[in-house]
Amino acid sequence: MAMINKDISYTLLKSIVRRANAASPSTLRFRQAQRTTFNAATTKDFPQEPRPVANPPTTTATDTSNNNDNNNNNNNNSNDKIFDFDDTKALFASVSTGKLMHSAATLNVAAMEPMVDLSLWVINSRLMDVGLFRAVVLTTIKHTAYSHFVAGADTLETGQTVRRLWESGLRGIVDYGLEHANDNESCDKATQHLARSGSTCIIRTGLGSLNYGLMLLKVSFVAVKVTAVCPVYLLRRVSDLLRWEYKNSSFKLPWKQQSLPIFAETSPFYHTLQQPAPLTADEEHDLELAYKRLQTICDKSFESNVPVVIDAEDTSIQPAIDYMTYWASFKYNKSKTPMVYGTVQAYLKDAGERLFLAKKGADKAGLPVGFKLVRGAYMSSERKLAHSLGVESPVHNTTNDTHNCYNRCAAFMLDEVCMRPGGLIVATHNLESAKLAAQKAREYGITKDSQKLEFASLYGMSEAMTFGLRNAGFGVSKYLPFGPIDQVMPYLLRRAEENKGLLSSSNLDRKLMTKELRRRMKAYFGKGMKEGENQIKP
Ligand SMILES: Cc1cc2nc3c(=O)[nH]c(=O)nc-3n(C[C@H](O)[C@H](O)[C@H](O)COP(=O)(O)OP(=O)(O)OC[C@H]3O[C@@H](n4cnc5c(N)ncnc54)[C@H](O)[C@@H]3O)c2cc1C
Repeated sequence: MAMINKDISYTLLKSIVRRANAASPSTLRFRQAQRTTFNAATTKDFPQEPRPVANPPTTTATDTSNNNDNNNNNNNNSNDKIFDFDDTKALFASVSTGKLMHSAATLNVAAMEPMVDLSLWVINSRLMDVGLFRAVVLTTIKHTAYSHFVAGADTLETGQTVRRLWESGLRGIVDYGLEHANDNESCDKATQHLARSGSTCIIRTGLGSLNYGLMLLKVSFVAVKVTAVCPVYLLRRVSDLLRWEYKNSSFKLPWKQQSLPIFAETSPFYHTLQQPAPLTADEEHDLELAYKRLQTICDKSFESNVPVVIDAEDTSIQPAIDYMTYWASFKYNKSKTPMVYGTVQAYLKDAGERLFLAKKGADKAGLPVGFKLVRGAYMSSERKLAHSLGVESPVHNTTNDTHNCYNRCAAFMLDEVCMRPGGLIVATHNLESAKLAAQKAREYGITKDSQKLEFASLYGMSEAMTFGLRNAGFGVSKYLPFGPIDQVMPYLLRRAEENKGLLSSSNLDRKLMTKELRRRMKAYFGKGMKEGENQIKP
């Protein structure tokens, strides 16, 4: 019965959307693009502008953030209907005063540039070799940045964090936090660890809950780094061979399995300047092992019906990562809801075109695909490498180009997933991008129950945006890195850099948290708290 209802509502939605789209010029452009086969497609085929949003921009007093100072100029300061930052009471209703004070304090300290610079200097200094000093520094970090940005030291603590998120209407993307493995032995260890800790973490989120189905809903995705299951040298070799095959149609890769388009004409090919040697028997064997490891993690995750999302890395190894992602997609994406998601980095000039080609390729093969959309985290190393080789950088020349590309990719995928099976994770801290995606999703009637769209941000970041999207009725997840303090230190250092300075991305959070704390204090000391209001908890 539920299935029939689902089918009826899906058909209904499709016909509504078809009618709604009929008048949209951008959709006509998009449809025209769709008719082009993926082999012949070029950047021209990818929608050049995001579809106009329903609510025209106006100025709002509470959109106080400089968060998007460098954002695209579409709809800046728009008084949209997605976020209501005026009502901080509703925004932070699920956050205890203690947690709010801790978060506001940590973010305010993180905004003090000299303080962060000093901390970074201390952490990287030889003082950390002195036992007692190290213990004091690590304890301080544990109670500040670590508890703010990291979900827990182990699966038990992380499970509890997921449960707390669930209670406040959010879900968790469990991130194993393991980065690169260099040989088969460390990949095997990583796989064991990943498969075990992933499922344990999912199970542990259910502590105290008797409802198994509900328990599984609390974890929306398991994040996987292919660099932890396949030695990096092999990812490089496979990427080289894939590039050469794309450029030379007579060049054959006997080990290559069914895949989707990995490159576009505009993709960077400078990593592979001469014909690479074929994979040796040992390398082919290692590749087989890598498939098996990815399979082990997927199987373990799918036992709990939790999809996996595969992270993106730098362009030197990303072709191999995309290849493995598509291999797993063909293996596991059997129903309307994809179980394997890849990642597209919108800061890359070829991102839109590659996304378009992969999606069209998937449609042709009847394969539902899911993508996490990010801006990208390797900008300086990408630019540095391109500069050192004297070639054009693969990263957009301006931040605005990246913003536009991100918004176009999100609009394209939303158009796609509303019409046919597939999924999108809008992974960003950028308010404007989230707003545009949310407005479009709302036009299409995509809500948190549709399993087609999830917003995602890092744990401890963009809290106002997170709660705003939740209040607006969308599925929202927090990316949850976990592990002992030593293991997650590089991650913490990246967060420290990101939140540094008064104009950092945490600006809006700091302002709104302070405003809400003031409101609660006033309510408590002024009129006294009414029953059921946000109590001031220790
Ligand atoms: C849930 C989640 C998962 C993620 N997974 C991955 C992943 O798998 N792989 C990965 O690489 N990253 C990943 N990231 C990190 C992501 O790529 C970004 O580094 C980070 O989220 C900041 O981007 P933003 O969308 O939040 O945008 P913003 O807050 O707007 O920040 C964008 C930043 O990028 C700078 N920038 C972008 N393009 C340019 C340009 N062309 N020129 C100059 N500056 C530019 C801007 O100045 C700004 O500082 C993930 C992030 C999240 C939230």
